[in-house]
Amino acid sequence: MTSQRTRDRLIARLRRQGINNAQVLDVMRRVPRHLFVDEALAHRAYEDTALPIGYGQTISQPFIVAYMTQLLLEDGMPGSVLEIGTGCGYQTAVLASIFPQVYSVERIEALHLQAKKRLAELEMHNVQLRYTDGTGGWPNLSYRFDRIIMTAACTEIPEALVAQLNDGGIMVLPFDNGIDQTMTKITRGKDGLVSEELEKVAFVPLLPGLN
Ligand code: SAH
Repeated sequence: MTSQRTRDRLIARLRRQGINNAQVLDVMRRVPRHLFVDEALAHRAYEDTALPIGYGQTISQPFIVAYMTQLLLEDGMPGSVLEIGTGCGYQTAVLASIFPQVYSVERIEALHLQAKKRLAELEMHNVQLRYTDGTGGWPNLSYRFDRIIMTAACTEIPEALVAQLNDGGIMVLPFDNGIDQTMTKITRGKDGLVSEELEKVAFVPLLPGLN
């Protein structure tokens, strides 16, 4: 069920849905998604669907992971990426297989610890994980990121994240306007921030801060 053939079938499907970045497709073929879900769900890991990971959270649908990763690559190869919402760590693993430095924060401690263990087992050494509220961005850091990706839907764009976006940087996030959610791409260009609304999407909501 986790054979190369089922993985190839998923890649063909992603391609049909408009994922055309060869690097993204290659990494989606290689990263073992079945190791990021409960054993009982492993046989469904290469279906193009979100799956439960406990704590009311989900592992994102492969198409969404590929789509967001492709958006992050639109303006060339960035140096650093910050992810809000590590969850099971699958999107983190995909990012770490492409980008030099990946930072990811998760607000549910049990998920953070589990992702940390999995990513260490896969020897992904270019990842730094923190258990914290991502609406504050990466804590205690004046550093700015070339790319920021949020994997839960927000109703307001956290200011701290905008502040941590580098010049020329791209941030992608599902934005919830109270009616529906839209994948939104924010670019910090020479003339300031530019926001683009893309596909309609369905994400779990961003959780409020820890205190
Ligand atoms: N990136 C994951 C998707 C996980 S679902 C994947 O690869 O499938 C979204 C995740 O965001 C959940 O794990 C949830 O706990 C986390 N999250 C929600 N609100 C958050 C917040 N304020 N700060 C950090 N993480 C948050």
